[in-house]
Amino acid sequence: MAAVRVWHVTLVAGAVMIASYFGALQVGPSSAAALYWAPNGVLVAGCLVTARRHPTMRPMLFILAASGCAGIYADVSFYVLSHIGGPVVYPSIADIGYVSTYPLTALSLLLVVRRRTPGWDAASAIDAAIVAVSASYIIFAFVIAPTMQVDATHLARLVSVCYPIGDLMLIMVGARLMLGAGPRSTALRMIGIYLAVKLVADTVYSVTVLSGSYAAGNFLDAIWMSATFTLAAAVLHPSIRQLVAPSSTATPDASAGRLTVLAIAAVIAPTVMVVQYLRGVDPHVLVAGLVCNLLFLLVLGRMAGLVRAQRHAAITDGLTGLRSRRFFEQALHAESVRAVRTGTELSMLLLDIDHFKAVNDTYGHNAGDRVLVEVAHRLGGLVRPGDLVARYGGEEFAILLPGASPGTAREVAERVRRGVAMAPIAIGEDRLHQITISVGLSGMPSISADTDELVLAADRALYAAKGAGRDRVASAEAPVPV
Ligand code: GH3
Ligand code: MG
Ligand code: MG
Repeated sequence: MAAVRVWHVTLVAGAVMIASYFGALQVGPSSAAALYWAPNGVLVAGCLVTARRHPTMRPMLFILAASGCAGIYADVSFYVLSHIGGPVVYPSIADIGYVSTYPLTALSLLLVVRRRTPGWDAASAIDAAIVAVSASYIIFAFVIAPTMQVDATHLARLVSVCYPIGDLMLIMVGARLMLGAGPRSTALRMIGIYLAVKLVADTVYSVTVLSGSYAAGNFLDAIWMSATFTLAAAVLHPSIRQLVAPSSTATPDASAGRLTVLAIAAVIAPTVMVVQYLRGVDPHVLVAGLVCNLLFLLVLGRMAGLVRAQRHAAITDGLTGLRSRRFFEQALHAESVRAVRTGTELSMLLLDIDHFKAVNDTYGHNAGDRVLVEVAHRLGGLVRPGDLVARYGGEEFAILLPGASPGTAREVAERVRRGVAMAPIAIGEDRLHQITISVGLSGMPSISADTDELVLAADRALYAAKGAGRDRVASAEAPVPV
């Protein structure tokens, strides 16, 4: 509860300080400048308070605090310079501070991204790259290219270009953070607002400076200050802990909102180029062409990833991670063709857990699922690399044994039956349940050369094993099990 109040107070205090700043501007720019460092001061304090409360977040919070300190250094040195010698010549030592806030903030957010998605999450990385590439083109076309043409010293031009490059860094990391998998907390949304507001303010600043319409102490100061206060409030928000909680899914869903963002991002660069052409402005064909090519490749890369994920989902059982029945049937068909061609043997096993309904009825469906996952895991360890284990139905599994004779297949079936029943399965905190399986076995060419017949025969043998008392193997050749 106390933490909730702190971030509320931060936002209210921020509004008061911004109003005071504009009040002070009426008195004189130097008295207002004394208040200008306040947002960064609050940000640094917020980072330190939260770092004390959540030690595991210290690396990212200390780096963000360092970014706040760089901002304070810049504000104070600008204030001192303007006090000593009137209008400050651009660039000044203050710009070192302002420019360094960008990589520091980006680095801090990058650490957050890594904690949220420890895996690669290539899909989110591509989505973020699509947004970043098209934002890069806008910033290039409207800020960087015009800045390069301004009549100024090399140093002034270089420093002026550092700011939009800093914005690009924030766009890249910010897009990756906002589009990546992981919990959507209030703190995350506030960081998103901070990034959006800051990036828009930076771009408006650059464009108005280039057109000569920028006036110091205008509305942009209020926007920058409120952006930093929002970031400070995010750091102090109780949901900040969720910000670094690892994501439960590797890749976020292709939601309508995400597709809209990606669609807009993908068409922005070519659209800007066309608009520039229609307005008679030179459209930087070389850069635009490269950007469009890069966007095409990223979109194609994303599509290839989606197709691969779809294919993987179609042949994989979601609960156990084993191959699906569909995959098993395709593999059975392909292997039977090969066996006929090469004159080799092929065997298959159908397995069914005994009295599985009792597990569900006694311990619940989740416990039943846990048993299925564990049985699948044990089966995987009981067959050789060339053999195929699939989930055939609810609590039925199938194993394909290419090249196995009926004798070998019976040995494997016995090994599997004993291996699965070897130890009880943990179905709760301290609950163990002993399970057994029944196995039906058939093979070609001994039983049939037709795959449908082969499956039917294995199913009949399984039924025979059940009828004979369960926890045993029955062969289609001699369906009366021992
Ligand atoms: P038997 O020894 O004759 O095989 O007895 P059984 O209780 O195992 O009988 P049966 O094969 O008819 O029961 C299968 C049960 O498996 C019924 C169904 O509710 C359950 N089941 C099927 N799929 C799943 C699943 O994905 N998760 C869970 N928890 N249960 C499942
Ligand atoms: Mg069963
Ligand atoms: Mg069954």
